[in-house]
Amino acid sequence: MGLQELQIFAVAGVENRQLAPNFLPCTDIGIRNSMSTEKKETMGFQSEAKQLLHLMIHSLYSNKEIFLRELVSNANDAIDKLRFEALSDGKIMPEGTEFGIRIDIDEETKSVTVSDNGIGMSKEEAISNLGTIARSGTSQFLDSLTGDQKKDSQLIGQFGVGFYSSFIIADEVVVESRSAKLSSDEAVRWSSKGEAEFDVETIKREEVGTSVTLKLKSSEAEFADGWRLRGIVKKYADHVAVPITMKQVATEEDKEPEDEVVNTAKALWTRSRSEVKEDEYKEFYKAISHDFQDPFSWSHNKVEGKLEYSSLLYIPSKAPFDLWHRDSPRGLKLYVQRVFIMDEAEQFLPLYLRFIRGVVDSNDLPLNVSREILQKDPSIDSMKNALTKRALDMIEKLSSDEEKYHSFWSEFGQVLKEGPAEDFGNKDKIAKLLRFASTESKEEKQNQSLAGYVEQMKPEQEKIFYVAAENYHTALNSPHLEIFNQEGIEVLLLHDRIDEWLVGQLQEFDGKAFQDVAKGELDLGSLDKDKDKKKKEEDEKKFSDLVSKVKELLSDKVEDVRLTNRLTDSPACLVVSEDDMGMQMRRVLESAGQAVPESKRIFEVNPSHPLVEKLKKEEDSDRFNNLALVIFDQAKLAEGTQLEEPANYVARLNDLLLELVG
Ligand code: ADP
Repeated sequence: MGLQELQIFAVAGVENRQLAPNFLPCTDIGIRNSMSTEKKETMGFQSEAKQLLHLMIHSLYSNKEIFLRELVSNANDAIDKLRFEALSDGKIMPEGTEFGIRIDIDEETKSVTVSDNGIGMSKEEAISNLGTIARSGTSQFLDSLTGDQKKDSQLIGQFGVGFYSSFIIADEVVVESRSAKLSSDEAVRWSSKGEAEFDVETIKREEVGTSVTLKLKSSEAEFADGWRLRGIVKKYADHVAVPITMKQVATEEDKEPEDEVVNTAKALWTRSRSEVKEDEYKEFYKAISHDFQDPFSWSHNKVEGKLEYSSLLYIPSKAPFDLWHRDSPRGLKLYVQRVFIMDEAEQFLPLYLRFIRGVVDSNDLPLNVSREILQKDPSIDSMKNALTKRALDMIEKLSSDEEKYHSFWSEFGQVLKEGPAEDFGNKDKIAKLLRFASTESKEEKQNQSLAGYVEQMKPEQEKIFYVAAENYHTALNSPHLEIFNQEGIEVLLLHDRIDEWLVGQLQEFDGKAFQDVAKGELDLGSLDKDKDKKKKEEDEKKFSDLVSKVKELLSDKVEDVRLTNRLTDSPACLVVSEDDMGMQMRRVLESAGQAVPESKRIFEVNPSHPLVEKLKKEEDSDRFNNLALVIFDQAKLAEGTQLEEPANYVARLNDLLLELVG
């Protein structure tokens, strides 16, 4: 089976990125001329932006400091973009440009301005970038909100609110910007009070770049304070690679305060590991991922030799809401010699590690590298292999802490299960990271590893047994487990859609083959005891008539009827033959509308069960048929299969019950 089937087993959404129209001119309010200039226009936020804005202001109230992180991060991105574009178009960056970010405070008007000399925005860009949320799944995301403030603020954190977070503390936000590609009289002023609409007008502006001014709400005046803002920069933006400058906080009345750089201003991944503090790693993660929570772990490396590059990889602590959208952002931030090249460079990690965030900075790639070149460059493959190993090692390390690993597994386990098919070379490494529910642990948690299973195997046991079902409880209560429970043999309870397919990819672990307990003749190998074999032979003789009669009755329903040795408590069960597709896999494929070859199953009856004894002795043919068919239907019910004719089953059962009550 190929990777395309994966989509069926992984619960991947098939949503396409549908960009909303870039902006919605407010036809209902009409474009009105403002007082200041003739060119000022009022426009409405895209409706989703409006909804998000509203939600965010309410949910992120306890986290309001992050506005500065978001603005500085946008400023830094804008500088990265200009530096990148200047590689191919030298004219857009005047010689000697020193990139930097400034934060100014106006104590009188209680406003804070963040300025950069980055790429800037044209009027059209300001309208579309600041008035729209052009991300796939936005409305789905909004639907998933619960109304519970705490939960929602986490979700919003994962969504990444960026620029809009300004409205948590500001009454009004004014953005002035001049694109590096346009002249000084084609600059733009964008302003909004964070309600339904925003204004835009063309202005004159000498400097290339952007300044964002927040007019603070009266309740948030504390942010118009030099010390407070320095603290926030240190905490959230120290790692930003360009200098962030602020005026010194005045100490003497008559002295004009000087400028000072308030951050370390060195790309974090270029520093040595021993130099970077834990908190700095965490904040850097939050800045590049727009996540609010600390990551689970990270791995920072420098590679020297034939290929030279640094990488800093993170495992988030929560799966993003769009992990299963086909077009959701994934991949690393790519830098070449400290110059930002692109976001979402997905060529450096396989799809099953799409939840990993981070940066890779290469010394060898050309600065004009494009996605197309990345796809062809052979050095990318070897970087991808090395980064994949690093990521898997990082996950393996995480697995030594059981509790932490369990949280990781609940977030990303399903994605990791795609690994063995996509990345055959690392199949064994990935197999060690897998976790399943099992009959031993008696809880729904997937916390048994394959190594743990093999370690606990009976000395004579040769196979890794599993049962696959629609959900945990059906798996746990499957009649196929009876003999295993009696003999104390552990069985893995597979209940994720992808599981059976996964096991098919793996085939074996540590030299032990996987065996579906509902497939083929139950062969316990050397676990079978001699006395059982003897009893089996006797039963074969004793019950041969019964088996033939049932076979005749069910001839169009089943492939075969035989005695079973896998049941202790149930009268009967259904199994598939060794080479047929497992039942759970069949259900998944059918529900996805795939054609699945017809195949009949084998009906196994338990000679030690009183109902089967009774059936054997039954001479009245109507009663025999009724009882046999009831037992047959019950075998289906017990494994979670729907009956084709439930009413017939009920009628037969009632006949039998009536006789019983006389
Ligand atoms: P994000 O940064 O996640 O894309 P934001 O809402 O923070 O989302 O910003 C939206 C867009 O506005 C950015 O992608 C960028 O194109 C533009 N933008 C924001 N701030 C600036 C800035 N300082 N300079 C240039 N463009 C900016």
